[in-house]
Amino acid sequence: MSESTENLIEVEHLVKYFPVRGGVLMRTVAQVKAVEDVSFVVKRGETLGLVGESGCGKSTVGKLLIRLLDPTKGSIKFEDRDIATAEGAALKALRREMQIIFQDPFSSLDPRTPIGDSIGEGLLIHGLKDTRQRQNQVQEIMHKVGLEDYHYKRYPHEFSGGQRQRIGIARALVLRPKFIVCDEPVSALDVSIQSQVLNLLRELQREFGLTYIFIAHNMSVVEHISDRVAVMYLGKIVEVAERVELYRNPQHPYTQALLSAIPLHNARIKRERIILKGDVPSPLNPPTGCRFHPRCTVAIDICSREEPPLIDLGGGHLCACHLRQPK
Ligand code: SF4
Repeated sequence: MSESTENLIEVEHLVKYFPVRGGVLMRTVAQVKAVEDVSFVVKRGETLGLVGESGCGKSTVGKLLIRLLDPTKGSIKFEDRDIATAEGAALKALRREMQIIFQDPFSSLDPRTPIGDSIGEGLLIHGLKDTRQRQNQVQEIMHKVGLEDYHYKRYPHEFSGGQRQRIGIARALVLRPKFIVCDEPVSALDVSIQSQVLNLLRELQREFGLTYIFIAHNMSVVEHISDRVAVMYLGKIVEVAERVELYRNPQHPYTQALLSAIPLHNARIKRERIILKGDVPSPLNPPTGCRFHPRCTVAIDICSREEPPLIDLGGGHLCACHLRQPK
């Protein structure tokens, strides 16, 4: 686990709207407010878990961080370089240092291309034209992720789900990035394979000094791998804390509800299950005030009128709720 306090990434007031077009002229008739004024840091060498229900904007944040999407507003600093506005050669250089692992690596692999060539594609794009050197580097990474030399010429359909995710990890790692967005990388895998892939990610983090954002909807998986955890709800970050602090002492009613659904390690401690009312509201028209208020079991008058700021309750435990005050 990380001890670093130096920030690798600093995100300030990040906003992402997706236009909804309609009518004969296909004008913008509405905006999906996927990410709304999000600020956080990622410390060098840590794993920051980003958790929330599907549709909360966590994958959009991951894609914004490595400029797979352009932000609507806000800044993203990577070692003091601005990702949000980088263009051309500067953006290409940044991309080499930041990679992504997807939930389903199969969909991003060409079924007619041997996996060795797919893994080496990034090296080719970044100028390594020599076939022998490329193959050597690819095979070195394949060994690191638990693949064998004879896999090099095989095609994606010849691999199991767990092996395909190892291919996805090798593709991300071959350019020797500093930062990897892990976007639900184990959600589609069997539980027994999940822990193998999580352990592999941790080993690689130690060996290569990697920094991760680990995106998932499963609180248990996030607990297994994260140093700190940020909880998202409907485009906003509502709570951030060190892993142990967040799981032992959740302060936001939404985090409390998410945690109430997972079994405790200590069977003597009882936690009451909190059932959330209704579905996540539409990001086309999010609720006023605290976005969680229509589902919150402890909402008060002010909650529907005023949006609570994300404040530090003490020791880096941040929470956005009118019921919480700094200690
Ligand atoms: Fe619930 Fe109000 Fe806190 Fe929002 S601000 S989480 S509605 S108590």
